[in-house]
Amino acid sequence: MTADPSFKVYSNLKKTTSEEEREQLLENPGFGKIFSDHMAMIRWSEKKGWHDAKITIRQPFQLDPASAVFHYAQEIFEGLKAYRGKNKCILLFRPEENASRFAHSAMRMAMPIIPKTLFIQAIEELVKIDNKWIPEGEEKSLYLRPFMFANEAFLGVRPAKQYIFSVIASPVGTYFRGNGESMILWVEEYLSRAIPGGTATAKCGGNYAASLEAQALAYKNGCDQVVFLDVKEHRWVEEIGGMNIFFVLKDGSLITPPLNGSILHGVTRSSILTLAKDAGLKTKECAYSFEEWKKDSATGCLKEVFACGTAAVITSISQVRHESGEFTIGDGKIGPIAQQLRGKLIGIQRGMIHDPYGWVHTLQL
Ligand SMILES: *Cc1c(COP(=O)(O)O)cnc(C)c1O
Repeated sequence: MTADPSFKVYSNLKKTTSEEEREQLLENPGFGKIFSDHMAMIRWSEKKGWHDAKITIRQPFQLDPASAVFHYAQEIFEGLKAYRGKNKCILLFRPEENASRFAHSAMRMAMPIIPKTLFIQAIEELVKIDNKWIPEGEEKSLYLRPFMFANEAFLGVRPAKQYIFSVIASPVGTYFRGNGESMILWVEEYLSRAIPGGTATAKCGGNYAASLEAQALAYKNGCDQVVFLDVKEHRWVEEIGGMNIFFVLKDGSLITPPLNGSILHGVTRSSILTLAKDAGLKTKECAYSFEEWKKDSATGCLKEVFACGTAAVITSISQVRHESGEFTIGDGKIGPIAQQLRGKLIGIQRGMIHDPYGWVHTLQL
């Protein structure tokens, strides 16, 4: 094992975006459309381990067409956000959790494990050099995308012996239509996204590829996102393509599907469970069927449904459509429980309210 390599920072100032242009871009960034000036990159090879860690100008990769990622999809990623705090501080939300999950994903895809410290250092170095790209404003942040892929040029089928780890940054506004807007879900009763024993608990690009046909169907039916059911019985609610899901019942209790090997363990999901418990709400991680969902909506037993994830934080669901009909949740607006939890979570993430959990990772510029 080699020691963690030290970072070299190469910055070609000629290519950086002007102050004026950046300000303009940050005004209305959308989601994942614009990118900061730099990127982090670290190489791994069987011989050298992790090496050549650097921050460079954001630029295309040069890849051999035989690179394993193009053929056998050895690729994983993470997503987290940086916020502008008080007194020249930058705040990251639970980056250690992303580092652990990245290691878990790497293991499942037979890829090398990047040490937690190196994973976080790459993020910190990038955020520091591109700190001016963290937008101001309540709904805005700098979305960070660590990822890793196999770049060995070899067409044989086995775990590759060469990888690139990288981090890029994208200033973002809201993922969906905007603050408090709710979304319409498509319940997919045939297509599956991932399977237990497969790669369901790994955050890999392949799971997303498998979800896109259903996502296209959702759009076709006027919906924003897909909710997937279990692969065996097509009966139990699992998760939304890239977000976890919560149900709020009349008695104020929260239900979310359990981590049974077929869903991704969201950092937002786990944070919400903690916040809800500490707010005195009952929480249950248990199986909930599409049948129950329909029935509880009809009887009024179900008060709110919301999706959660780093990109969209907490977004409420107003309507549900499926092959043979549709139904509305509550009055179709963001519910009080979702609103309360969202306020707490965002407040902690942005350093506006006290963080009793040690979740916020502060960087001093
Ligand atoms: C990333 C992701 C989530 C949400 O995880 P967070 O850590 O809360 O951002 C949920 N489901 C899937 C499939 C994901 O890829």
